[in-house]
Amino acid sequence: MPIATVNPANGETLKTYEAMGAEEIERRIQLAEATFRTYRLSGFVDRARLLLQAANLLDEDQQDIARVMTTEMGKPIKQARAEAAKCAKAMRWYAEHAEELLADEEPAAADVKDSGASRVRVRYRPLGPVLAVMPWNFPLWQVMRFAAPALMAGNVGLLKHSSNVPQTALYLEDLFHRAGYTEGCFQTLLIGSSAVDEILRDERVRAATLTGSEPAGRAVAATSGEMIKKTVLELGGSDPFVVMPSADIDRAARVAVTARVQNNGQSCIAAKRFIVHTDVYDAFAERFTEGMRALRVGDPMEEETDVGPLSTEQGRADLEELVDDAKRSGAAVLCGGERPAGDGWYYPPTVLAGITREMRIHREEAFGPVATLYRAGDLDEAVLIANDSPFGLSSNVWTRDEAETDRFVRDLEAGSVFFNGMTASHPAFPFGGVKRSGYGRELSGHGIREFCNITTVWHG
Ligand code: NDP
Repeated sequence: MPIATVNPANGETLKTYEAMGAEEIERRIQLAEATFRTYRLSGFVDRARLLLQAANLLDEDQQDIARVMTTEMGKPIKQARAEAAKCAKAMRWYAEHAEELLADEEPAAADVKDSGASRVRVRYRPLGPVLAVMPWNFPLWQVMRFAAPALMAGNVGLLKHSSNVPQTALYLEDLFHRAGYTEGCFQTLLIGSSAVDEILRDERVRAATLTGSEPAGRAVAATSGEMIKKTVLELGGSDPFVVMPSADIDRAARVAVTARVQNNGQSCIAAKRFIVHTDVYDAFAERFTEGMRALRVGDPMEEETDVGPLSTEQGRADLEELVDDAKRSGAAVLCGGERPAGDGWYYPPTVLAGITREMRIHREEAFGPVATLYRAGDLDEAVLIANDSPFGLSSNVWTRDEAETDRFVRDLEAGSVFFNGMTASHPAFPFGGVKRSGYGRELSGHGIREFCNITTVWHG
């Protein structure tokens, strides 16, 4: 894939970039390593000052960087602004909390005594340069979710961003530099995915984090495994959205629409499979389909747009194949389901019913505004369908019944369960999945500790 900005709303190539060569990559890795040697000695107060300065600059830049994101990957402009604001919030959260999250820990006195020590502490020390391989769907947020905790922990970052968001990638490097970070603290590598393997094999790069597809995750994890390097993987999802009879059906249907089409349907934590108890299936299906049909699809730069184009031509082709496969196997199309004529990589909000296990869409991630509906006879069947997926990122359940709540928390195979609302990440809560959605956690104290050397300090 060439490194270029191609506007998904009309297919126009706006800017192309030369990939960095071996010499430039070497210079940047060397700089990262050299910078780490001094940056790791900085205190939390200095690190927080820099991160807060970057958050302030990001707030000032919000309009401009939102336009860049929308131009590069097609998200509705108001969602792009919200993404920038969310990044600034996470930066402030880590600036405020990192010191406390990484404070030394003292094991229980009885255990210290039992080990024969006079004193034991657990200290969180930084690891070194971390490579972040990041996707285009939340081109600021995915990076900041890594960068804010990594920088507060004393690590330095090397970013390999998706090839279709080079301007956002370069903006991020510039943002940190303007905020006062020394050049090697955060660098963008303008490279294709084929250059990643060699960087992972470089001893100076200590760990890697990847958000993206399963094949990309597998490739990065395989090399990192060979090199014995820590990785965090946040891969795809096909999150269930379960609706039980006690739920507020109107609200569930309204939120379901947003949960499915946020970011033009291209979110790992978008609800994708709607599993509805048979008693309320018809009422939910009708309201949900109505809501999906009423969405305004169009130019993502327009304030009123709900759903813009998919970010790449290939992405739309992949989604269309999933829908066509389901249609051929007998799925009912309640709305959408046909690619529109005209420029841009648009695909309409689509609802499919009558999904069977044989259909590809049952097992694969639909990365676009396409929802699948399932009818469940009871709670057990709802859980069975929800767990019948290779993925396990998040899950959503609508119920007002306490006993049901406990069952879902106990049984759903996912990294989070959201009741009577839609999944959203927050800096204070751990974020990540199980099964083929990946491993490790981002955000919260769990996220910042992923790339730390957890050091036992024992005194005799
Ligand atoms: P990819 O996983 O291909 O891209 C994500 C990042 O990984 C990019 O920086 C990409 O670089 C890089 N990459 C790709 N292949 C490799 C590799 N073998 N080794 C190292 N790095 C690699 O996602 P796509 O954009 O192709 O999207 C495909 C599908 O992935 C989507 O339809 C969706 O299902 C899933 N996805 C999930 C996301 C999530 O948030 N969980 C985000 C994005 C995609 P480059 O751009 O240069 O190829």
